[in-house]
Amino acid sequence: MSVGLEQAGAALAAESARMAGLGWMRGTSGNLSVTLQREPLRLAVTASGLDKGELTGEDVVVVDSAGAAVPDQPDPGQRPSAEAGLHARIAAVAGAGAVVHVHMLSAVVAGQRWPGGVVLRDLEMLKGLGRRDDDVMTVPVVPNSQDMGVLGDAFEAGFDAATPAVIVARHGLYVWGRDLVQARHRTECLDWLFQFTLATNGFQEGVA
Ligand SMILES: [Zn+2]
Repeated sequence: MSVGLEQAGAALAAESARMAGLGWMRGTSGNLSVTLQREPLRLAVTASGLDKGELTGEDVVVVDSAGAAVPDQPDPGQRPSAEAGLHARIAAVAGAGAVVHVHMLSAVVAGQRWPGGVVLRDLEMLKGLGRRDDDVMTVPVVPNSQDMGVLGDAFEAGFDAATPAVIVARHGLYVWGRDLVQARHRTECLDWLFQFTLATNGFQEGVA
């Protein structure tokens, strides 16, 4: 697999603007990545510290399997977020073509409510994550850390190929897919599922 940097940069800018519009990338938070090649692993990641609603196709950094910028960047003035290290780990372990990291409120609140994992069940919207409507899907919650190695180990320990997401407690959400569009669709569905599950928690079914 090989994706061109120019194409990846344009897609990253467009999807970042879309997700910023959904309120998922407030301030300069969050970052998106596209896997450019596998051997050796190279990812195009949105540059750090920028307004995600206003990126251009050049606001991108190429990183290696540790999330470190490689030489010969399109713009040597740009830096990757430290979080690029977890993007690279997810791309390697899950075989993802794209990773979305957003500070989505519904995910963080759900992770706070259910720190042992957020259980999503019996909802049509689960089909948007490749599951059946009567499935039970548990989204893992890992403790926050500034050390991407620690976070990566926690992600890998709970990794299930059928659950393309992990919540980082009191921080945000990572979601992945074969490309950015699929990863965004999954993120949209997860937001709905988290919001529904939080809003209906404590309801007694069938009681008026
Ligand atoms: Zn973050």
